Order: sequence, then structure tokens, then C-alpha cells
Amino acid sequence: MKKFVLFLFLIISMTGCSNRASEFSVEGIIEEHENNIIGIHYPKTEIKSLNEEIEQYVFETKKQFLKEVPTYLSLVPSELNIDYEYWEVGNRYYNIVLKTFMTSPTLAHPIHMVKTFVYDSVKKQFLTLLDVAEIKASTIKSTLLLHHKDCILFRELENNVTEDLLSSMMFTFTDHSILLYFNPYEISNGSCMIIKEEIPFQNFKVEIEKVNSSSKTFEYHKVSKNLAIDKKTIALTFDDGPSKYTKEIVSLLEEYDSNATFFILGNKVKNYSETLNFVLEKGNELGNHSYNHKQLTRLSKEELKKQIEDTNQVVKDTLGYQITLLRPTYGAINNRIKKNIDMDLVLWNVDTMDWKLKNSKAIAKKALHDIKDGKIVLMHDIYKTTLEALKLILPELKKQGYQIVTVSELKEIQAIKNETEKR
Ligand code: ZN
Repeated sequence: MKKFVLFLFLIISMTGCSNRASEFSVEGIIEEHENNIIGIHYPKTEIKSLNEEIEQYVFETKKQFLKEVPTYLSLVPSELNIDYEYWEVGNRYYNIVLKTFMTSPTLAHPIHMVKTFVYDSVKKQFLTLLDVAEIKASTIKSTLLLHHKDCILFRELENNVTEDLLSSMMFTFTDHSILLYFNPYEISNGSCMIIKEEIPFQNFKVEIEKVNSSSKTFEYHKVSKNLAIDKKTIALTFDDGPSKYTKEIVSLLEEYDSNATFFILGNKVKNYSETLNFVLEKGNELGNHSYNHKQLTRLSKEELKKQIEDTNQVVKDTLGYQITLLRPTYGAINNRIKKNIDMDLVLWNVDTMDWKLKNSKAIAKKALHDIKDGKIVLMHDIYKTTLEALKLILPELKKQGYQIVTVSELKEIQAIKNETEKR
């Protein structure tokens, strides 16, 4: 058997700095319907009351969105995207920002809004701005006027930033400042979108206990592989992750001497850094699937670049890994993407429909029916049924003599094959 050895030199060691102590799961809802597409991500912590508040908000927002989806078939689908930011301060204070984007032909303008949650895991309670900062409405008003003069509507500012309303104001905090958030029309005209204002701790009295942060170190090992060029070969790909199922999928792949390419979302990287480290250590590959699963063809050049570059950057900063492959969300590509993004675009030619079927036997049946030598298979590592389906698919493919590799390995094998055929 012809073999060649592929050496993957993964990064030796990286120090990631973060305030986070442990991994938590990120719930993902990705749906693609005829008239609407939905991409939602939010953190799920070990705190029940916090999860309930977040889920309630997501549920209400989705309900509001579905009301806006027209009953007639529109040219461009309506889109709902909810993304999140999550950080802990001193392994104690949980800060969560949910960022919603909604667009539909029935709306005059796309909707942008944020919602914040701050939770003290020691006192087991939600915190208001006044729990964290002894601050005056006048301080906030003067800071806002200083930085957002062109946007602020004076009457709204006077009415909505008062001593009485401080405790209901949206905010988060870091180890050196508080961040205040105002949705469009709250204190500004709509064109200013969301106003985010940072006020350093030295400008007011801090009410919380002094906090300190921790950091993590990763180490990679060099992986070498034996790949055959005369064997039937497929590339397995997993989109929309990582998730709580990813590690198990990687272990299962390892059991069958297989690897895959994981097209991940940038917004999950920090929370799943250990998982992703595991993915890489086992010889798998990471690809870019945007930052928060917005439809890329709808974005301006700047927004598009930000989605892609922020994801590559957070992977590089957190894992020391350089991504080269891009799988566009919803498989949608246009000239703007081709022209502005200098990465290899990877689609698929076997769609297991796992996100829709959500039944392991049906997924396995579809996959095994469609798989042929040289194919790229689309799956999603955010569903338990996909994990279960793999337990049926992998042994069968091995029995049929397939080797299962990453997209880059498949391409490399195909290139070598083409080269030898030419001779
Ligand atoms: Zn996707």
C-alpha cells in the first residue's frame, strides 16, 4: 500500500489569559427555513435562575421575530441572530451580554438590541449597577455627552438617566471598569445603534470585592499520520460547534483511527478552549464558520471581514492555531466574499441533513447512502443525534474500507493522486 506521512506541526505552547475558570456549554439554535434563517447562541451556566432568565429572553425574542416573518415567500429570507459575550470577573461575577440582530421585509429597519445579565455566584443573586458602583446619574450623563454628543437626544437623556432608574440600567463590568449599554431610541436617535460607554473604576466608588484573574496554559504535541493514497477516502466536516458533544465525537473518531475538520464559530472559542485544544491534539483540523453565524452574503465588506478575522484572531490568540479554511454560513457565497476573503472556501457534497432529521438511524442511512470516494460530508457537532449516528456510520465506513480524514488531508491526497496519474 502506498503511504505517505503527513506531519502536522501544531503550536508548542500558548498562554491564554482570561478571567474564566471553567468551561460552560453554549446552546446553539441554527435553523434554515424557506422564509427565515435563525442563528442563536447563548451560554448555559450551572446557575439555574440565570439560565432561566437568559432562556426567557431568547424565547421572547424568537417569538417576536417569528411574528415579523412574512407569510408570503419573500426574495430574501428574514434573519434572526442572537450572539453573546460572556466573561467572569474574579471567578465570581458572571457578565453576559446578549446581542440581537433581526431583519425582515416587514420591518422598516433591521433591529439591533442588547440585553445584559450580571450575576454574583457567591451571593447567588443578580446584581444591579448600584450593587457594583456608587455612581451618580450626573456622572453618567456628562460622560455620555462627552463621547456621544452627536447621537444623544437631550430629553431622552434627562428622562432615562435618572437616580431612580440607575438600578434598572443595563451594564456589565470588568476588573477595571463598568460598561453601560443603551439600546437605540433609549437616549439617542436610531441611527446611532447601540451605545456602549465605559467608565473606569477610578471615577466612582466600587462596591464589589477586589478581584483577581487566572490564566491557562496549553501545550500541543506534534502529530504524525499515515495516510494511504490508494484507499477510498472521505473528509468528515462538522459545523456550528464546538459544543458539549465535540469531545465525545473526537474520541469516537479516534477509536476508528479517523479525523475531521471542525468549522467553528468564533464566539465559542474562549469558552471551549480546552475542547478545541483536545480537537487539535487528536490530529483534527479547525476551520472558520464566521463569528456568530450571521449570513455572510448580507454583510458589508467591513462586517464580513470582521466576522472572519475576529474568528481567526481569537483562535490564534487562544489556541495558537492558524485557520486557513472557511465554510460560509448557510453555504451562501457571493462575489464580495470571494473578492475580500483570502481563504480556501470549503462547501460539501454530501449533506446528512442531521440538523433537520435529528434521528440517528435516519442520519446514518442518509450518510451511508450518499457517501462515495472523495466526498466531503456535512454534519453538525451540536446535536446528540449526530454523535449517535456516528456510532453507526464510522464502523460501517471502516468495514467498507474508507479512510476518514480532514479536508486539507483529502485535498493533499487528491493532489498527489492527480500528480501520479499525470506521470
Ligand atoms: Zn452553520
